[in-house]
Order: sequence, then C-alpha cells, then structure tokens
Amino acid sequence: MPSDHDPLLAAGIDLGGTHLKLALVRRDGSVAARNEAPIRTAAGADAAIAQIVERLHALFDAHGVSRASVVGVGLGCPGPLSPSRGLIIRMANLPGWDQVPIRQRLADALALPVTLENDGNAAAFGEYWAGDRTCRDLVTFTLGTGVGGGIIQDGRICRGALENAAELGHTIVVPDGLACPCGQHGCLERYASAAAVARRVEEAVRAGEPCALAGRIRAGASVDSEDVAGAVEAGDPLCRRIWLEACALLAVACVNVQHTVNPRRILLGGGMALAGETLLAPVREAYARRRWTLHDDYAEIALARLGYDAGVIGAAGCAWVQWEETGGAGERIQG
Ligand SMILES: [Zn+2]
Repeated sequence: MPSDHDPLLAAGIDLGGTHLKLALVRRDGSVAARNEAPIRTAAGADAAIAQIVERLHALFDAHGVSRASVVGVGLGCPGPLSPSRGLIIRMANLPGWDQVPIRQRLADALALPVTLENDGNAAAFGEYWAGDRTCRDLVTFTLGTGVGGGIIQDGRICRGALENAAELGHTIVVPDGLACPCGQHGCLERYASAAAVARRVEEAVRAGEPCALAGRIRAGASVDSEDVAGAVEAGDPLCRRIWLEACALLAVACVNVQHTVNPRRILLGGGMALAGETLLAPVREAYARRRWTLHDDYAEIALARLGYDAGVIGAAGCAWVQWEETGGAGERIQG
C-alpha cells in the first residue's frame, strides 16, 4: 500500500515474450504492489496493449490507488526500439509488432505519461536507482531467455546515438560460432543465457552423451538452467562442461566490457543467476585468469540485487526520473 508520508507512486511494466510483470513503486525504489501474468505477445501488439491496460487498472483498483497519485508509467520491453520516439521497432520475429507507437498508445489509454526503455537497460537502471546509488558506473548481464545488457554511466542509461547500445547478448564471443536468430554467429546469448545452457544440455543428450538429466530429457521433459546448475553442483561432467564454457564466455564479455566502458561493477542477474555462487565463482575465476595485467582497472563482478524484479523496478525508476526532470515535483509543490 502507498505509504502515509509519500502517497505518490510510479507504475513499472516489464513486458517479456511470455510474461507481463507490473509493480507500483515508491520514490525510494520500494515496491508497494505487484502483479504478474502470462502474456501472449505472439498474438500481436493490440492484444498485448489491451492486456497491459486491463492489468494495470486492476492493480490500481486492488490497492485503492487513485490516478492522481501516479506520477507516470515506465515500460521496459525487448528491443530493438526507440525510446526517444516511444516506438517498438520489432518484437523478436513476431507478427503484429512492426513500428508500434506503444508509448503514445499506452499514454492515451491510461491518461498518464509513459516512458519506454529497453528491458536490459531498465534492469540495469533498477540496480542503480533502487540499489547502491554510490556506484554510478555499472553494467548488468541479465541471463534469461536471452542475455539482456545494460550500461549505466555516471548514473544514466547509455543508449548510444542510434538508441541500441548495450545489446551485450549479441556481442560475438565465438567467431563463426552458433547461429543466432539475430543474423550473426557466435553471440554471447547462444552460449550463456539460462535458455542456452538448458538447450545445449538437451542437444548433447539427444546426440547420445551421458548426463544425469538424460532420463528426464529422453522422457520428453524440458530442463531449465536451475536443473543444469543442480547437476553441475552434483558433479555431472556434461553439465559442468557446458556450464563452465558459458561462465568462461561471460568472463570474456566482462573483460571486453571492462575495456569498453570501465565500470565499477558488473552484475549478473536473470534466471541463470539463481545459481548464486555456482555461477559467480567460475565467472570470477575465469575473469581473473583472462583479464590484462597492464593495469588494475578491474570491475567487481557480483550478483544482481533485485533479481527477478530489476526490470519492473527500473522501468518505474525511469518514470520517476522523467517526472522529476519534467518538473513534476515542482508542480506538485505549487499545487
Ligand atoms: Zn545475436
């Protein structure tokens, strides 16, 4: 519920390929209310926008939140998109998502200001804005279905001239490696996402390699990165090989990020980071082994703090910042 001291809230929305997350977030980054539902983005933008509006109104109603107490709405979703134009350029390879002016459509439907941000950037901003604000230069890898990236420089999201910076999942870590649906080969996310490690274990089992998870996979059950991490901890050789290769390639990406933007901290989040030390220790070890010795400008590698909520909190944080920068606080004070 809204606090007695500051009843104002921002709404954060994290729109994924199959999941919709909503949260009402206070100015200090704490979550007042949240809601989560499956969403079928494959059904196109019109259906998704209708569902977002319906769920957000339901969240307002369930918690007695009046429209006047909501400073704005932040939406995080996968790129490519244009935050400045409020446009989703494409959504994976799904039909019905080309050039969708989602910011304006949501603003019209909700009668609230809306900001649009890449979901990887939103997660990074959440870790900064609702986490340790003394660390103003950080990079996040969100290891989920793909690998989301976000770069915070001096407390602000780095977007790049063409608004598509920090697509760290599509940095090439294996020249001529596995094909990626993005059109490149050897992208980080083909090896080091939660989905990729599970998929690679399944493929190896189907190719006949022995594995502790083979029985389940051959029985037609799907496995996820938590299953793989469990098998790694139990010493399964196949899972260890695939997991440690993912960690080594993540470490390569960390070295490259160190030399590109020189962050104070690199945070690992998303489903694969649920493995905790099983992920962190080998990435740190490989990073220490592969980085240069010319200078000690090393990044601290750590687990993301907000975990599953980083994207939705960060999206709300973007709405808060827009409200502050457009004079929202002043208008309120002046009444
Ligand atoms: Zn790619």
